Amino acid sequence: MDNQLDRAPGGYVSFSESGFVQSVNRTFLDMLGIEEAEELIGRHVETIMSATNKMFFHTYFYPHIQLYGRIDEMYFSFRSADRQIVPVLLNGVRQERDGQVFIDCVALVMRKRLEYEKDTLRSKRKLEELYEATSEMNQQLQSLHAEYERKQQALTEINRGLQALASTDPLTGLHNRRFFQDCLRGELLACRNNGTSLSLLIVDIDHFKQINDTYGHPVGDFVLIELARLLRDSTGAGSICARFGGEEFVVLLPATGQAEAVAAAERTRSAIAGTPLGSHRVTVSIGVDTALPDSTEASLLERADLALYASKSGGRNCTTHANDIPHTNDLPNV
Ligand code: GH3
Ligand code: MG
Ligand code: MG
Repeated sequence: MDNQLDRAPGGYVSFSESGFVQSVNRTFLDMLGIEEAEELIGRHVETIMSATNKMFFHTYFYPHIQLYGRIDEMYFSFRSADRQIVPVLLNGVRQERDGQVFIDCVALVMRKRLEYEKDTLRSKRKLEELYEATSEMNQQLQSLHAEYERKQQALTEINRGLQALASTDPLTGLHNRRFFQDCLRGELLACRNNGTSLSLLIVDIDHFKQINDTYGHPVGDFVLIELARLLRDSTGAGSICARFGGEEFVVLLPATGQAEAVAAAERTRSAIAGTPLGSHRVTVSIGVDTALPDSTEASLLERADLALYASKSGGRNCTTHANDIPHTNDLPNV
């Protein structure tokens, strides 16, 4: 055998059809830990196989090579001189030389490849574990997120409730003075920016003290609650009603000029005068003012208050517009 084949980077073994080794290269001998070629030549090839591999050789290798004349990439194991398993990838071909049939095989040791495969499998398993852990974390994250959203929603509800509470008069359920002041500021600004009109009503119950003094404070409260309801119902959807304090209420009428505001005040006044609140009847006096471009919150309130005072001094149960009080016109609007 020439040196090139002898030292080729793959084991070569050739055996007869009946399985007796005819020639072998150095690489194959080294693979099995055999010193001299003579130790193997003439021996049956099955003497370098374990019992299990012999069976496999009989049931698969021989029939296949007889039928097709060759075998490719067969995973197989030989047994070395010190009885160790030598895993190989085996290619075989059945061919005739000088009137005799030979089975020539090339074997490549597979230890490294098997190690690689094991490594790959280990990495794959690790990846799968990591993937499982990640998807579990994702699920936890999702449920935490849902929990957070629920809590956020609850907090928003609570805040909305608190905001409503902070802007509501507890006795009558109308807006409170603070809310009214914010609205007045906003409406005056809109008024100036858009050139629209805005009117303000101050509604004060006449001789309310007498109700308290005669029937007691709880009856007074009842009258305030009923009057607030009536006020809200009689002033229409666009209006903003609030309790200004005590037995005094305010109504903001956006986009409403003097005449319309006085008419609305009169409607409210006569509705209150004509409607019994339980077994009581009350009347109200109303002061009205309508904003001019240079009106401020304070001037509007002050002028409406002066108009209310005029209604009181004019006999109560009536409406006065600030522009109808001669000396009020001398007062600055700002
Ligand atoms: P006028 O026609 O001049 O407005 O007379 P009035 O009696 O209505 O006005 P006055 O300012 O003298 O009295 C207002 C009364 O309103 C006195 C106060 O006890 C009562 N009052 C203020 N807030 C409440 C409340 O929340 N509940 C009850 N029951 N009474 C209240
Ligand atoms: Mg009063
Ligand atoms: Mg009063």
